[in-house]
Amino acid sequence: MSRLGSDLSETFQDFLTGCAKTVMLLGALATFISVGLLVFTCFRVTGDAGSASQMADAVRNAEIFQKVLIAGVIGLATGSAYMFWGSEFLGAAQLVVAAGLYFAPLYLPGMLSGTNQASQSALGSLQVGGTILGIIGFCVLMIDIFFRVTQRVKTGVKLDQLKYGKGIKEEGDKQNILLGKCWQLPFCRKFVREKCPIYLSKRTCWKELVGCMCEESVIRGAMENKPIPKDALLAANFIPHNHKLTMAQKKERCYSCIIYNEHQRHKYKVSMPMTVIGFFAFYGLFHGMLIDAVGALLTKINHIVNGATMGATGNYTPPVMFVEVMLAFFMLIGLTYVMKMLEFAIFKAKI
Ligand code: SF4
Ligand code: SF4
Repeated sequence: MSRLGSDLSETFQDFLTGCAKTVMLLGALATFISVGLLVFTCFRVTGDAGSASQMADAVRNAEIFQKVLIAGVIGLATGSAYMFWGSEFLGAAQLVVAAGLYFAPLYLPGMLSGTNQASQSALGSLQVGGTILGIIGFCVLMIDIFFRVTQRVKTGVKLDQLKYGKGIKEEGDKQNILLGKCWQLPFCRKFVREKCPIYLSKRTCWKELVGCMCEESVIRGAMENKPIPKDALLAANFIPHNHKLTMAQKKERCYSCIIYNEHQRHKYKVSMPMTVIGFFAFYGLFHGMLIDAVGALLTKINHIVNGATMGATGNYTPPVMFVEVMLAFFMLIGLTYVMKMLEFAIFKAKI
């Protein structure tokens, strides 16, 4: 790209970041103010408060605050999604705030001296805000996990996290055997391999904690055409040992090596579909139990809300379809976090 092109693209990026920041801050402000006013409405016009006109005013105000809240949560959610895209906590933080708003009718009525049309309208508005933020947060979480999975399957770790083998290209005559040994992966260079004691002894460098990317003697041996027996047992005697580093330091070396991280990428490629299949198998096998649990949870929530609002919501049994949708929603959120944990285990904890 020309210098002018890259300057324009940077300026455009800065412009977008500035817009996103403004939208996020205005959204946060509108959310904060409207939530405050809705809570204030609940407390100000409680029980048998005031005249009918005061009540009607409060209901009308709650409707206006609801509109501000909707605009606020949309601005907050979209702005923060742009600003913090890629952060582990973005989707979770949005869902926590959404849950805080959605479940307001659960914990707020306990602090009121009574409820009425105005407070119910205000509580309903908080729930609407929570629902919208929850839907956006859920979509953000899904898109984020989709991009993470495709990027991890394609490239594993980012090149800038690698210390060993960063500039190495894949070999032309590459092998790429799933979960193979180091010499069955695409970064094993033919001219080193033919004189490499790890290859000739049919071992794996990350198990020996010594290899062509980290030990100079392995490369030097290949450059100097040092003879190594073809017999696997005899070749093992030629594997160099570095006594200057501790085991932990050698492992650390592997964690930032392109070869080891290719191996981790293979692990991810295998364990990711297995995790998804396992999750769906769990859903299918324990569907009845899960439906009962979600149904009981929803009934319990309704019971608490009904008690707190002195019977305003009435006792109701959630429709089967609604329970199914809630279960699917919980399962998808659960799956998303299991995938994040898997990514963490393989690419950060290097298990
Ligand atoms: S240590 Fe390097 S050269 Fe030797 S077999 Fe493994 S990847 Fe190939
Ligand atoms: S750092 Fe580890 S994975 Fe990389 S070549 Fe050395 S032993 Fe093999």
